[in-house]
Amino acid sequence: MTVRVGVIGTGMIGADHMRRLTTVVTGSRVVAVTDVDAERARRHAEHAAARVYDNGNDLIAADEVDAVLVASWAPTHEEYVLACVAAGKPVFCEKPLATNQAACRRILDAEVAAGRRLVQVGFMRRYDPAYRMLRAVLQDGEIGAPTLVYSVHRNANSPADYASEMLITDTAVHDIDIARWLLGEEIVATRVLTPRHNRRAAALLSDPLIVVLETESGVLVNVEVNVNVGYGYDIRGEVVGERGTVALGDTAAVVLRTRGQRSAAVPADWGERFARAYDLELQDWADSVRTGRATGPSVWDGYAVSVVSDAAVSALHTGERVAVRLIGKPPFYEKD
Ligand code: NAP
Repeated sequence: MTVRVGVIGTGMIGADHMRRLTTVVTGSRVVAVTDVDAERARRHAEHAAARVYDNGNDLIAADEVDAVLVASWAPTHEEYVLACVAAGKPVFCEKPLATNQAACRRILDAEVAAGRRLVQVGFMRRYDPAYRMLRAVLQDGEIGAPTLVYSVHRNANSPADYASEMLITDTAVHDIDIARWLLGEEIVATRVLTPRHNRRAAALLSDPLIVVLETESGVLVNVEVNVNVGYGYDIRGEVVGERGTVALGDTAAVVLRTRGQRSAAVPADWGERFARAYDLELQDWADSVRTGRATGPSVWDGYAVSVVSDAAVSALHTGERVAVRLIGKPPFYEKD
């Protein structure tokens, strides 16, 4: 069976996901497209020979659409994901699942009422081969019990409309999710530290930030969010255990030695650094739609990250340590 996908939002990542679903992923086809910018939707639909819909709700309801990929502006995610769940259609939703924990909770409750996993959230780092190897080392017990995690998230530049809270809600959410996934436990509290302002950033932007996360077992996760470093997109991760450490390796394919210097390229952006992860993520999603067995980042993961992210925003505003309170547990479905 070929999964017939409808895509909502054909901006930067929506268009890239469309290309993947059309040319990289096996067993999927984009049949329907919508975007608030109708001309943009038409342009992208033409490449994929897909039909253009006036709005997301009509696309979700269409008989020709088996599953939906939501890559529109974050404030629209809740409405579209809820409509997919109501229609019983599997949905891949780009992060964030929704813009706050109450909205994520409504999606979680709707999925539980539907009685089966329908939602996968776009936390693509879980599919990155390097992060997978790092997790396997942890699970082997090679370095002993983890005590500390260092996570570095640097972007070359941030968009003009980037606000301080977005360093957490748009950027650090990936680090929050990957820390939970690597350690296999939830975050219970957070603090946010604000170092000296990077003068390359907009005057009012609190950049960089250090987001400190405390886990259930007492591991401290230090996340550096630094979105105007100029030199490239630099993702680092290291876990310190009781008798060793494990860190992500260098991503460069080649190392250049010349004129007394040794150098290696730094990825330009997330699209380059996580290209393989996005391929694997969408293949996994398409496979899960075909088999009816979803295994990717769940609605619970989207909810848990949102609760931590809301707490971190509050910690940024108050300078206080803020407790993270998750309500309930990951849902168990008979079909899982
Ligand atoms: P973007 O380039 O601004 O694209 C969003 C697109 O959705 C735009 O074409 C926008 O149109 C359209 N849109 C807005 N409201 C809509 C609606 N009601 N119905 C249909 N289309 C609508 O943003 P982006 O960078 O692609 O980000 C999209 C989402 O993906 C965000 O949630 C972002 O956080 C996430 N993302 C995830 C990753 C990752 O690594 N996982 C990377 C990048 C982005 P207008 O431009 O006309 O408003």
